[in-house]
Amino acid sequence: MRAQPKASHFVNGAYVEDTAGAVIEVVYPATGEMIARLHEATPAVIDTALAGAAAAQREWAATRPVERARILRRAAESIRARNTELSRLETLDTGKPIQETEVADWPSGADALEYFAGLAPTVTGETIPLGRDFVYTIREPLGVCVGIGAWNYPSQIACWKAAPALSLGNAMVFKPSEVTPLGALKLAEILVEAGLPAGLFNVVQGRGSVGAALVTDKRVAKVSLTGSVPTGRRVYAAAAEGIRHVTMELGGKSPLIVFDDADLESAIGAAMLGNFYSAGQICSNGTRVFVQKGIKDRFIARLAERTRAIRLGDPLDPETQLGPLVSAQQFDKVMAYIAKAEAEGGRLVAGGSRAALGGLYVEPTAFADVTDEMTLACEEVFGPVMAILDFETEDEVIARANATEFGLAAGVFTADLARGHRVVGRLQAGTCWINAYNLTPVEGPFGGVKSSGVGRENGKAAVEHYTQVKSVYVGMGPVDAPY
Ligand code: NDP
Repeated sequence: MRAQPKASHFVNGAYVEDTAGAVIEVVYPATGEMIARLHEATPAVIDTALAGAAAAQREWAATRPVERARILRRAAESIRARNTELSRLETLDTGKPIQETEVADWPSGADALEYFAGLAPTVTGETIPLGRDFVYTIREPLGVCVGIGAWNYPSQIACWKAAPALSLGNAMVFKPSEVTPLGALKLAEILVEAGLPAGLFNVVQGRGSVGAALVTDKRVAKVSLTGSVPTGRRVYAAAAEGIRHVTMELGGKSPLIVFDDADLESAIGAAMLGNFYSAGQICSNGTRVFVQKGIKDRFIARLAERTRAIRLGDPLDPETQLGPLVSAQQFDKVMAYIAKAEAEGGRLVAGGSRAALGGLYVEPTAFADVTDEMTLACEEVFGPVMAILDFETEDEVIARANATEFGLAAGVFTADLARGHRVVGRLQAGTCWINAYNLTPVEGPFGGVKSSGVGRENGKAAVEHYTQVKSVYVGMGPVDAPY
């Protein structure tokens, strides 16, 4: 099974190779087979990408928004037309089941290109009357933006960053995670085929050091990172040196609160989606499932039954519902969290072991009787491991849900809609759901509070993060100088 791209990088409108860069072996997580061999970007490749982006951006910023939009829309159509082939590549790169990648990864990337193509031409400034004089504002692009991606949704992340950046007149240099480097190259290729001028969307491969070199370059105006909180701290600090704009989409330990009156099947379905989809490798997962005492036993019994029916298998088989973890490193980390949860007194109610399939497959796992101090309730696992905690009152659960450094997402299941709105009003999270979980349509802003991040992706809110306001004072009469 080979998925070797034409070359490692995509710079100035074409594939580029520089074999002097350290080797990156790309592995299909389901079998351990090497599917591609790439090289990290050398300083020369990084420099060419940034110089090309800076040069191309000037003209792009002067292009009519509708013309920019037309190109993005064509790219979205091309992604949809090629969804089968692209989703297969995404599955090879990540190990996620094809039944997921075909509906969730590239399709949501196409949505972002389409959405921002529609939104960008409507972005305008304002006129502020001052009597005789006036001020008008212009929303200008930032310039060269750097995008750095995590490995869980590599192509979606690339699209979610490229779409607002490009539609609003910026250029982008994107560094995928070295674990999943293939999808972003396809995006670059598709954008150029759709008519995007060379240099506006570049992909350079590499580990953290390549990301660090990009973040500190003088030509860079903005950094958008999707990654863990520790990496976010480093990248935010490095960006601060140059007073650069940042968007930080970081990790979480999000609460999903299920009240006694909730529709049980929906709440369980949401908890399963919010812990097992993509083998649990989703930043916004509801990994602390707070269940009110009155339905706790029924919740756990039915959850265990439904979890046992999840089909693990070959990710390329359309029937497979749960694939392997992305890497051996992630597998070891997740298994260590499971062992720790057992040692700290968690009651295993589903899974808990390496799956019978072997390899990097972990059984979908749930622990009941988890308490707030247990490691499983405090740290992001990024694997198919659910923590079930019980609670009695609304005030209590809100206080406990908020007692974390994270604030990415939160969910509430209740039949009492007034309570649903009241509870989300008090939850410290950037993205909340009532009687739903983990749905992130491009129309809605997405992002975190507290250590989970700053800035928002998607929705109109993203415009704020890829443009800046120029304020122009217009004097309409003689200057009144006192000297
Ligand atoms: P990491 O934080 O390990 O890496 C994120 C990206 O940053 C990678 O491309 C990585 O490169 C790069 N990087 C690492 N160090 C530096 C540095 N010093 N300067 C610049 N770039 C650097 O995250 P993972 O890839 O392990 O992804 C999992 C994490 O991402 C989880 O915490 C998850 O919650 C979070 N996430 C957040 C989302 C959100 O929208 N809020 C969505 C998806 C994931 P390399 O991997 O090559 O080392």
